[in-house]
Amino acid sequence: MLKMTHLCTDCVQPITNPLCPSCSARGLIAWVRDRDLKKAEMKKVRKLLRKLIKDAEENPSAINCIACDSLQVNLCVYCFTNRTKNIIVKSVEDEKVVEKFKEDFNVDIWLLRY
Ligand SMILES: [Zn+2]
Ligand SMILES: [Zn+2]
Repeated sequence: MLKMTHLCTDCVQPITNPLCPSCSARGLIAWVRDRDLKKAEMKKVRKLLRKLIKDAEENPSAINCIACDSLQVNLCVYCFTNRTKNIIVKSVEDEKVVEKFKEDFNVDIWLLRY
């Protein structure tokens, strides 16, 4: 039987490997912690991430997160990474941190998908 396909609310592509924003954010926070950011920058990253998670909570989907089973997976991993990249760009002054983010999260490779 064919399962209903769940689509990303951003790019309208099927979501594979569903991970909710809170679970994905945990990985990002761990990454950011290692970057030695200024306190204010860290605060801004956390604030913008919280907003991203809140948006997802307001648009629950019919697809469960593979890690925590919550129904907040409304973005595919590509769109989530793209949004978090924007968060980093907006919050962090140091260009090197932004470059490192793109490198570690393969942002450029993912963007080629479109
Ligand atoms: Zn997407
Ligand atoms: Zn989760």
